[in-house]
Amino acid sequence: MEIDRPAPEHSAPAPSLPLQSPPCARALSPSRASDFKTCPLLYRFRAIDRLAEPPSPAAVRGTLVHSVLERLFDLPPAQRTRAAAQALLAPEWERLSTEAPELASMFRDPGDEAGAPGDAGATLALWLESARPLLGTYFTLEDPTRLEPAEREQLVEVMLPSGLRLRGFVDRLDVSPRGDIRVVDYKTGASPREAFEGKALFQLKFYALIIWRTRGVVPRQLRLLYLGDGDLLTYAPAEAELARFERTLEALWAAIARAFELGDFRPSPGPLCGWCSHQSLCPSFGGTPPPMPAGAVMEFPTVGAAGDGAVDRAGDRAGDGAVDRAVNGAAGSTVLASVLDD
Ligand code: SF4
Repeated sequence: MEIDRPAPEHSAPAPSLPLQSPPCARALSPSRASDFKTCPLLYRFRAIDRLAEPPSPAAVRGTLVHSVLERLFDLPPAQRTRAAAQALLAPEWERLSTEAPELASMFRDPGDEAGAPGDAGATLALWLESARPLLGTYFTLEDPTRLEPAEREQLVEVMLPSGLRLRGFVDRLDVSPRGDIRVVDYKTGASPREAFEGKALFQLKFYALIIWRTRGVVPRQLRLLYLGDGDLLTYAPAEAELARFERTLEALWAAIARAFELGDFRPSPGPLCGWCSHQSLCPSFGGTPPPMPAGAVMEFPTVGAAGDGAVDRAGDRAGDGAVDRAVNGAAGSTVLASVLDD
């Protein structure tokens, strides 16, 4: 696979097929799909109630590092050095915090609206410093002077025959002169243990399915770069596998429809509860969820193709018991129309 070198102009990928707007919006992203599999109530809080979540330094650091790596490829190849990436940190933070002032609030002294340097300024400086090793690790995994991404931070979406729309943002797409596509995702955490690699690849398979369905090409490689520990995970998806994955997503959507029809988004406590912003509203922690927002409801036919049989075939291959359990008996008549997420 000859992707690690600049691609000539003629190797640019064919444009995606135009996407028709559905009469009723219904879409699924990798993150919301993962939310539902992890905890249906968390999915509800994020996708239906759309509850605000305070920014966390770790998550915003990830956003910042992604932003720097995206900007790095604006530079001519020879200038994409480690020093150049480090030099982009402060200006990218300035840009991000100007566009989203709530990010800067993480480092603001209480009562100091201007956020003047003080203890908070020192905290911000330390936080910015903590992003530098992640960028340094990136250069141990790839040589950006030999890469010419075809697309960066690219929105990809597709409408499946069932009417379910899939969408998400791909960190980077590389396209070789032969037309081979590589889907690249940066992770600022550490690589997962082997048993959890399938879960880690869920997001990239999601993107691979969209690319296959919109461009008619199965990506040659999915690549996860773990900047937390310098590990690299690559995977070559097969067409049949993506077809099964599509059925898995349809089954997952049917499960979401069923949960909505029953008004039953159950909490599923687990290790991620420690990072959940909504414990005070969660029955598992003594809270009570708010009433379902009335404006979120709209009637339209369900995903009929994703019945139990589809779950049996697809869910187990996905290695995800949560899907099997969630869609058991799914056959609703209405689904949520406002599940448009990131
Ligand atoms: S606290 Fe845990 S169980 Fe409750 S909504 Fe959050 S992730 Fe789900």
